[in-house]
Amino acid sequence: MIEPDDYLVPPRTWAQIDKQADAVREVLKLTNQPRIDIVRVVETVICNAMELSEFQVFSKSEMGHLEGLTCPQGSFIRFREDVYERACEGDGRARFTFAHELGHLILHRNAPLARASKRDGTPSYMLAEPQANRFAATLLMPKAHLSQTDEASDVVRRFGVSWEAASNRLSDIKKRGGL
Ligand SMILES: [Zn+2]
Repeated sequence: MIEPDDYLVPPRTWAQIDKQADAVREVLKLTNQPRIDIVRVVETVICNAMELSEFQVFSKSEMGHLEGLTCPQGSFIRFREDVYERACEGDGRARFTFAHELGHLILHRNAPLARASKRDGTPSYMLAEPQANRFAATLLMPKAHLSQTDEASDVVRRFGVSWEAASNRLSDIKKRGGL
């Protein structure tokens, strides 16, 4: 979602990614609440990594157009300060950025970094960006708290996500045969 380029990563099914996103909620005992404090979740996961990974906030001049960045070796997860502030205030798009970067940290640490993209015919399930987006969508909007009758506006309210993330989640679920 954030980086203009994408990378080839080991293939994963969406079900495998969902399992890893659900595991984060389970470990942190957050399965009962629809809306999670994603900033706190990222900070807690980093904290539990026993100092192997550092949570960083950098200025706009340092990060430029990048909203978030995760070290390929997993030694840091970094956010632009305005994104960090907006995520703390509950902005849906910034919250998704947090969940997306956490996806990179959990799914792609130490993955080999060969450039690839959809344009060269690489399927989504082998690309870092779609995998991180899927992780973020499942972590923020788990199926357990969705219902068949949900509209995007319900999802926005319940989970604190953007309209775009809510619509994508609902259309993706519909496309794959519903809940
Ligand atoms: Zn990304």
